[in-house]
Amino acid sequence: YLEYGVENWGNTYKSSLQPLYIFQKRAIRIPPPAKYGGRHTVTLIPGDGIGPELLSHVREVFRFSCVPVDFEVVHVNSAAETEDDINNAITAIRRNGVALKGNIETNHTKPPSVKSRNNLLRTSLDLYANVMHCQSLPGVQTRHKNIDIMIIRENTEGEYSSLEHESVSGVVESLKIITRNNSLRIADYAFQLAREKGRRRVTAVHKANIMKLADGLFLQCCREVASGYPEITFDSMIVDNTTMQLVSKPQQFDVMVMPNLYGNVVSNVCAGLVGGPGLVPGANYGRDYAVFETATRNTGKSIADRNIANPTAMLLASCMMLDHLKLYDYASLIRNAVLVTMNETRLHTADIGGQGTTSEVVQSVMRVIQSKGQLTAEL
Ligand code: ATP
Repeated sequence: YLEYGVENWGNTYKSSLQPLYIFQKRAIRIPPPAKYGGRHTVTLIPGDGIGPELLSHVREVFRFSCVPVDFEVVHVNSAAETEDDINNAITAIRRNGVALKGNIETNHTKPPSVKSRNNLLRTSLDLYANVMHCQSLPGVQTRHKNIDIMIIRENTEGEYSSLEHESVSGVVESLKIITRNNSLRIADYAFQLAREKGRRRVTAVHKANIMKLADGLFLQCCREVASGYPEITFDSMIVDNTTMQLVSKPQQFDVMVMPNLYGNVVSNVCAGLVGGPGLVPGANYGRDYAVFETATRNTGKSIADRNIANPTAMLLASCMMLDHLKLYDYASLIRNAVLVTMNETRLHTADIGGQGTTSEVVQSVMRVIQSKGQLTAEL
């Protein structure tokens, strides 16, 4: 495990999850999530594709580990014409403060009035910071080693503003919104996180040579924020070069901050670098709420209900959630069990070149947890 071993990995994760909202030099703690009689209530949105089965495995592992979390399950029907389902889910998250979710399918053949439920959820709750920590996993063979990149993606505007129209037939305008306020707050989030983690460099990813006003503003805001963090080196890179640099020398990156769509592309490239979408967890933080899911937000419909999906990303997302709830011991217990399991090549699922099944991985995770033999006694 040496440099990227279980302990180091877990610790880095643990410390990467402070729910801080830093803006205008003020730190405001997120209000405590719903907690009754010592137990937390978390909204659980199974979503589509592999979401329901992965989340049922998370529940199984939580039950086995006696994690003091109760789930309020809210189903969102992606085929529904109305937005009632997603509004119910949003209300439930407002009530509980925290959610764990699978990806909700967005059918791109439906009319523009049918908005992505995932996007509605993030914008309605103002979950402005998407955080993904891409780190080489012990036991997973990849072309590049020693990757340790934190990606901070603006999550509420940019190309995801859902403002498109065809006023003149054959001419579509799709608006990308970049605002000074939101650019400053995401830049500040990235630098604050970098400082907290003792990171040395923050790279802003942009395309300001073409989108001179929009990306120019984003870059300018990053520069302004950087001046308040003299111990952290700030640089910037154009998005096309970034993707090329990532696949040729990913170790050069430390913390990266970027607008929404570049964040989507870069996150997927980075997930691929460390083994794929089944491995990397992600979090969406706002001032008041936090929602956890797999980093690359895949539905995985073609592998649903076949017991072959890799449960690692979702289990690790649930550990990020436990850290957020300050249930650090439970988070470490489950995370370490997942990482120990990942180190067993014979249990690898097909996405990382093995023949293991989802349930075999989950069984192994529970065996490792049991072998710790310290569950309820110590926690
Ligand atoms: P589909 O949803 O039909 O699989 P897609 O193009 O919409 O196709 P995504 O859901 O975006 O695919 O997933 C991208 C790829 O990653 C797919 O091949 C999917 O099977 C794979 N994938 C996603 N999540 C996992 C996972 N947890 N374990 C294994 N493979 C996964």
